[in-house]
Amino acid sequence: MKTFITGHKCPDTDSVMSALVMANLEKNLGNTNEIIPCRLGNLNKETEYILNYFKVDAPKLIDSVKDADEVILVDHNSFLESAPDISSAKISKVVDHHRIANFETTEPLFYIAEPVGCTCTILYELYMMNNISIDKTYAGLMLSAIISDSLLFKSPTCTPKDIEAATELAKIANIDINSYGLDMLKAGTDLSSFTPEELLNIDSKEFNANGAKFQIAQVSTVDIDEVLKNKSEIEKAMNNSISSNSLDLFMFTITDILNCNSKAIVLGNKASVVEKAYNVTIKDNLVFLPGVVSRKKQIVPQITENI
Ligand code: MG
Ligand code: MG
Ligand code: MG
Repeated sequence: MKTFITGHKCPDTDSVMSALVMANLEKNLGNTNEIIPCRLGNLNKETEYILNYFKVDAPKLIDSVKDADEVILVDHNSFLESAPDISSAKISKVVDHHRIANFETTEPLFYIAEPVGCTCTILYELYMMNNISIDKTYAGLMLSAIISDSLLFKSPTCTPKDIEAATELAKIANIDINSYGLDMLKAGTDLSSFTPEELLNIDSKEFNANGAKFQIAQVSTVDIDEVLKNKSEIEKAMNNSISSNSLDLFMFTITDILNCNSKAIVLGNKASVVEKAYNVTIKDNLVFLPGVVSRKKQIVPQITENI
C-alpha cells in the first residue's frame, strides 16, 4: 500500500517541507504504508537552498496520483491546485491553511485546517499534540517554511502561533532566525535564469469566481525594477497564457520582500477589476500596491469580491 503526500502545483517551500514533515509524522503515528513525500513541480531556488542547507532529498516529482492507495494533501485543498487526477484518488487527510474551495471527497477523512500563516505551524502543533519529538533537521525544515510563508513574520498572514512555533523550532535547530531567514529568502529572489514563461510558473494559482477565471502569479525579489526589465517579454507570455487558458484576468505580482510592497502587471478583459479592488489606476499595464505581500489575504479576496 502506498501513501502519497503532496503539496500544491508550483510548489513553494511550505508545500515541499510539509510533504517531507508530514511523511515523518505519519510514520511516527503508525502508518505502515510505504509513505512517499511528493511534489507536483520543480523546486524554486529558495527551496533548493533549504534542502541543500539541511542536506535533505527533495520529495518525489509526480504528475499523477494513480499509483497511490491513499493521498494526503498538505498546504492546499483545491483540486485546481492539485494533481490532475486527484478527484479519482482516495484522499485520507488534509492539513492546510487555505480557504476551502473546489474540494470534495466521496469518503470521510481527517481534515485539519487552521487560519495560521503556514502549514508547518499546524504540523508543529500536531507533533506537540501527539508527543512526538522533532529532530534538528525536521525542525529546520519547518522553521524554513514558516519564515518563507510569513516573509520573516512580516506578512499579514502571520499569527502569534507561527511566531511561537518558529521560536521553538529555531531553538531545536539551533538557528538564528533573522540571519538564516534573510539568507534563505534572498536565495529565492535570484530570478536571473528564468525565461518569462518560467517566471510566471514559479508560483502561480488559478481561481474561478462569478463565472470568471483568473490567474495570480507571484515572485519575490529585492529589486522590482530588475524584474520589470523584461516587462514586454513577460506580457507576451501572459497574453499567450490568457488565450490558451481562456483567462479573464492574469495578474503577475512582483513582491519586494524587504520593503513589503508589490507591483503587478495586469492583463485580460477584466483587468479593470484590479483598479476597482485597490482604487488604483493601471498605467502601462502596471499597478503599484503598497503594503501588499500576501496573495491569500491581500489579493485573492479583493479580486474575488470585485470580479
Ligand atoms: Mg503554499
Ligand atoms: Mg503555505
Ligand atoms: Mg505561498
